[in-house]
Amino acid sequence: CGIVGFIGNKKDAKEVVLSGLTKLEYRGYDSAGISLFNSKFRSFDIYKDFGRVQKLIDLTKNTLKSNIGIGHTRWATHGKVTKENAHPHYSQSKRFIIVHNGVIENNEELKSQYLSDSFFYSETDTEVIAQLIETFTKQLNVENAILTTLKLLEGSYALLVIDTQTPDTIYAAKNKSPLVLGKGDDGITIASDLMALLGYADQYIALADHTFVVAESDSVKLYNLNHELQPLIYLEIDLDE
Ligand code: GLU
Repeated sequence: CGIVGFIGNKKDAKEVVLSGLTKLEYRGYDSAGISLFNSKFRSFDIYKDFGRVQKLIDLTKNTLKSNIGIGHTRWATHGKVTKENAHPHYSQSKRFIIVHNGVIENNEELKSQYLSDSFFYSETDTEVIAQLIETFTKQLNVENAILTTLKLLEGSYALLVIDTQTPDTIYAAKNKSPLVLGKGDDGITIASDLMALLGYADQYIALADHTFVVAESDSVKLYNLNHELQPLIYLEIDLDE
């Protein structure tokens, strides 16, 4: 199972995400998916299915160049291996698109407490995260809606979130599942494994638990769950070592 997201203006996000997911294939997975910005319709397209990353490569053959993309290989924990349960998942109105590695242990409790009226598109624990974020945006701005959601989650997550209303930002968060952020000339890559950054980043940060990231192509902000800015301490990626 793996996650790769990219935001940057030079490279096509599809190339970075699919090459990253291919590098993570050895970890095993049952489904794969990607979301890319469609500059013609100014909306996000989602391609996903059970099976190999090669399927995604075929499905996305004719996409336009995208500055932003998030991708996922799934190892199913909640819900069968189906196209509907493959990531990316989305909120009720499809405003928020997310990929998630890990397990949300209290997803049933969260559903009955906050989302008893909601329709669900999938059987996954992941979808609860997207639905909660959207629910909280009725009262809060996006960053606070995500932070409020994160504070409710019990379990493990490496998470990438796109708000389709601001298609120049990737939000990321992690707890107990690995997530690394890489910076390079072409943009920002965020992935579950350093391997997926190779070739696209010169410097990286292995994110700490309870970190919340707001990434744009030329800026990264790191917060704790109290929305307090954290220092950015990059390490060099040195391929000669
Ligand atoms: N628990 C999520 C699911 O079953 C994510 C699994 C994963 O880490 O790939 O869809």
